[in-house]
Amino acid sequence: MAESICLVCGYEGKPRKIKRGTRGMEIFIWTVLLIPGPIYSVWRRVGLPRICLNCKMDKMVSINSDAGMIKQQQMDAEMGLILPRAQASVVMSDKSHSVVALPENTTDKRTIDPDVW
Ligand SMILES: [Zn+2]
Repeated sequence: MAESICLVCGYEGKPRKIKRGTRGMEIFIWTVLLIPGPIYSVWRRVGLPRICLNCKMDKMVSINSDAGMIKQQQMDAEMGLILPRAQASVVMSDKSHSVVALPENTTDKRTIDPDVW
């Protein structure tokens, strides 16, 4: 199983899945009512929220998903493991490392005229 990452706190690891309903009710339905037993068992196990072990929120996503990759890069940048994207482009474009220049695409921003809106 692929690892997951929490979108709230950045915890990486396996999420916790909590089943709906109770085991006692499942045993009761299987033994007494019989027919709805399989339906109840499937309902308990399908579509479970993935709970974060750290913050107990159900915002865990796969680390290979787009949201997971973005959160992992954000967490790595916050911890100083990698440079943020804008800062990294400055370092890459500056060969001499003596003068830090702004990225070129920041000057391409067009001004917004409030009258046009
Ligand atoms: Zn969390």
